[in-house]
Amino acid sequence: MSKLSGSWRERSPRARAHYMEPVEPQTESELAAKDSQPDNSASSVAASSPRPERRRQPRTWETPPAPVPPPLLDDYKNIVGTADIDELKFLAQEVKGRTVKMVNSTAVGGGVAEMLHQLIPLLNEVEVKTRWDVITGGNDFFEVTKAFHNALQGSDYKLTQQARDIFLMHNEQNRKRIQFSEDVVVIHDPQPAALIDARGGASQRWVWRCHIDLSNPNPEVWGFLRPFIERYDAAIFSSQSFTRQLPIPQYLFYPCIDPLSEKNKDLEDSFVQQVCDEFGIDRSRPIVTQVSRFDRAKDPVGVVQAFKQARKYVDCQLVLAGGGASDDPEGAAVLKELREAAGEDQDIIILDLPPWCALEINALQRASTLVVQKSIREGFGLTVTEALWKGKPTIAGAVGGIPNQIIHKLTGVLVHSVEGCAYQMRYLLTHPDFARQLGQNGREHVKENFLMTTNVRRWLLLCRILLSGRSK
Ligand code: UDP
Repeated sequence: MSKLSGSWRERSPRARAHYMEPVEPQTESELAAKDSQPDNSASSVAASSPRPERRRQPRTWETPPAPVPPPLLDDYKNIVGTADIDELKFLAQEVKGRTVKMVNSTAVGGGVAEMLHQLIPLLNEVEVKTRWDVITGGNDFFEVTKAFHNALQGSDYKLTQQARDIFLMHNEQNRKRIQFSEDVVVIHDPQPAALIDARGGASQRWVWRCHIDLSNPNPEVWGFLRPFIERYDAAIFSSQSFTRQLPIPQYLFYPCIDPLSEKNKDLEDSFVQQVCDEFGIDRSRPIVTQVSRFDRAKDPVGVVQAFKQARKYVDCQLVLAGGGASDDPEGAAVLKELREAAGEDQDIIILDLPPWCALEINALQRASTLVVQKSIREGFGLTVTEALWKGKPTIAGAVGGIPNQIIHKLTGVLVHSVEGCAYQMRYLLTHPDFARQLGQNGREHVKENFLMTTNVRRWLLLCRILLSGRSK
């Protein structure tokens, strides 16, 4: 278990009710109008009552915990049933002994790394021998690829010759460094896309797995990358709406979570309590949480603004838990902006966590009354999947792959603005029965569509399609 110790155990003595009756306004625009009025709100009332001390800079742990042995396929039978697992083993028979290489740009941080850590042992268990390589690059490379990433998801960007050269030079260096002898090579996302230059014999199959929203890409950046993508044998997208016109087959793979991973497995409530104590989170009051890399696309500042509006009407705390990814150079700047936006507000708890805090993130999600993912650009949003799996009422930006997960007012709620987010925070905190129903529906939706076992099934089917008729 976790190395949390020396718990901070001062509990809030406050006996204030969790839920306050909703008062006018009831719509986003009314709420916006109300917010321009002086604050005679719950937060100013709350300011007069004693508050528990907050650990604004909780300890972080210098060393990662020992790795946990990965689950076996049979371990999932209790969740998805024996028939589904038997089907996976049957599908694997035809591709047993085949080799696969996955290549991406970061070993930790972010959803792709998260999925690969869980997927690869399962493919190996059914004897599809799968390796994972992470490309290397300097800051110059990751600055360019981060800009590409944002541009491909719709941001303005001027593509320069220097950026092209940096991108190609680092791809070339990685091409020389990594061996590509496997039957199937899967390149994740744009960063390593030019590795297609390493393509070997005619029987080898190359797949581009795109995790980002390409529905409205910057034409210059997409124009630069597209000739590489066209040389792959297939492309995989996370949502129907992300696909492009391409001369190669395209497949839909929803991203997934592993219900048995440290991030998602069931936890003892005593551990959830321990984590909350450590971080100074008061479980006797509603907790609104966003877990995300500190990235502007996740709009953490917007979450703070929405929280500050909502708290005028309903008592709550905000937890923003995040960290960096090695391929994301903007994290520190965004964290600084976020801290400025939060100011000295004692009810906003910002946690800058190292990447190995899966158990703590699991606990924070489970402790939450609501989960928010107010992204303004998003690939799929695994944090949404994680929250839904934990049965949490979830408010999320209606962008990227999030609407595949959140069917508005059925499995969660979708928002388009700070005001909308504030309104939904307030509405769900004051309508707990409706919120609970959303959470239950969300969990079922994840079980049907977004669990690791479904993903393994898709990879096995794709390998069968790509390798059928090709000798070993
Ligand atoms: N995550 C984490 N620590 C953090 C922030 C995020 O472990 O500090 C995890 C989060 O729980 C989720 C993944 O990273 O599993 C983020 O995936 P998502 O698709 O939501 O966003 P991405 O970071 O890939 O854009």
